[in-house]
Amino acid sequence: AKRNGRAHYQYYAPEMNVEMLARMHLEQRLRKAVKQGEFHLEYQPIVDMRSGVITSVEALIRWQDPDYGLISPESFIPIAEETGLIEPLGEWILHQALADLADIHAQGIALCMAINVSARQCMNSKGICFSEVLKQALATHGIEAKDVHIEITESLLIEDKPLRLECLDAIKQLGVDIYLDDFGTGYSALSYLTQCPISVIKIDKSFIDNIADNPSDVKLIRAILMMAKNLELPLVAEGVETLEQWNFLQALNCDYAQGYLISRPVAKQQLLAFLQQSKPL
Ligand code: C2E
Ligand code: CA
Ligand code: CA
Ligand code: CA
Repeated sequence: AKRNGRAHYQYYAPEMNVEMLARMHLEQRLRKAVKQGEFHLEYQPIVDMRSGVITSVEALIRWQDPDYGLISPESFIPIAEETGLIEPLGEWILHQALADLADIHAQGIALCMAINVSARQCMNSKGICFSEVLKQALATHGIEAKDVHIEITESLLIEDKPLRLECLDAIKQLGVDIYLDDFGTGYSALSYLTQCPISVIKIDKSFIDNIADNPSDVKLIRAILMMAKNLELPLVAEGVETLEQWNFLQALNCDYAQGYLISRPVAKQQLLAFLQQSKPL
């Protein structure tokens, strides 16, 4: 029995190593994937709730691994951040999104591009601020700053505050708006909203999910909308899936909506078809 006990104990210890191995394995695959270009971008429309016009799209990365199939960014972006691989990957995302935006503009379609930027990308390992990387990329693809936004999360605002603030100010100076993503899920120190150059708030999907059946979340959404109005910050609702949610948000004067109700994230060709077909006559 004692022996079994020991065996039992040993059974659990390596399990942590299994997790670490899986992680290292993913890290190795990720390195290879960056080199071999196993990524592509999808774009999800964001609609102006008053006019019904699609004003922008959010670029979302997809990793098609030859063996494992599609791997969720929720699982590999954190590893890319920890390992620093987000740097080359982030630059690839930026250039691909701007190249695609240039193509879309060439079709005579007015559209803005929202790009997710990780905390780690703010200042790269060479000490270069993301504003410099962005400025170069805009010039390369002939894109105006006003047609691009970046989306950041609160975590970016927490560490290294003075440096990050300087960097965000430089981005804003370029004319690129900064959206605060996943609002309501993090630390939500409200002072960030006025201290940082934030132009738009994206309210997290988790709040929208509960519109139908959670009265306290409904109260929270109302409060967030009122606060945003008072601060003159437009609001995007994320993860709008039902007409009920849309109607609720519209009644509360929410500015923009994004979610499966309007469209799932789609490849560029599909996006173009979608935009052509929803163009006003
Ligand atoms: P996020 O920035 O909050 O992106 C929104 C996520 O919600 C996307 O998941 C999108 O597909 C999903 N979504 C949108 N509408 C709906 C809906 O109506 N219902 C449901 N169930 N989901 C909806 P995705 O593409 O899997 O991305 C997950 C997260 O991975 C993103 O969350 C973001 O944090 C990160 N990520 C994705 N692409 C990039 C990227 O290019 N760069 C960086 N740094 N992070 C990225
Ligand atoms: Ca986002
Ligand atoms: Ca989000
Ligand atoms: Ca999210």
